[in-house]
Amino acid sequence: MKNIILLAPPAAGKGTLSDMLKKEFGYVALSTGDMLREKACHDETLKALMQKGELISDEIVFEALEEKLETLGNQPYILDGFPRTIAQAQMYDDILNKLGRDLGVVIYLDVDKMELANRITTRLVCDKCKRSYSTRNKDLLPKVENTCDDCNSVLIQREDDKLEVFEKRYSEYLEKTSPLINYYEEKGKLVSITKSDIHEIYPLVLELIHD
Ligand code: AMP
Repeated sequence: MKNIILLAPPAAGKGTLSDMLKKEFGYVALSTGDMLREKACHDETLKALMQKGELISDEIVFEALEEKLETLGNQPYILDGFPRTIAQAQMYDDILNKLGRDLGVVIYLDVDKMELANRITTRLVCDKCKRSYSTRNKDLLPKVENTCDDCNSVLIQREDDKLEVFEKRYSEYLEKTSPLINYYEEKGKLVSITKSDIHEIYPLVLELIHD
């Protein structure tokens, strides 16, 4: 199976897609957002930056990610939310060279901004395993209200899933992350998916991930 980079604006479905691939194929899902949220539980400065929707420094992000990558061996993995800038992409290229690993495929989920804003305000996530749910999509509702299907933990709204913070996160995405579309397109690694429903996205992704 190929390694995957999920490149997408906030709430495009990166977390849901990586959960599905993890369950079906044993992918390791690496979400830098989840890693940073964990770190932010003990770091007020980091927490405040994330609550504002700002990107976090490369140094902190790499510290969290590099350790995990080194422990993976040859297991296929999905990067959800990384790289977020051209500088991170270049640093990641260097890590891959150092580890002798292949980049795999970059999947770009192209979802309309209005749709993203609606999703953000109806998204719930499991406090423990981080699985995402949606209160407006019956396929993504938990079986028991406010309870995770997988680990029975409570569902919460992320602190940065508010409309005003979404606007900041989306503008960070446009300014700093969207240039990666060209970066990976030029390397011949990018595949764009323009569907927004996960049931339409998933079969398209399955066609891309086999070696
Ligand atoms: P996410 O869970 O991917 O939506 O990320 C939530 C927040 O974590 C972002 O708004 C950023 O503050 C931070 N973050 C996640 N990944 C990165 C990254 N690769 N570089 C910088 N900041 C990040």
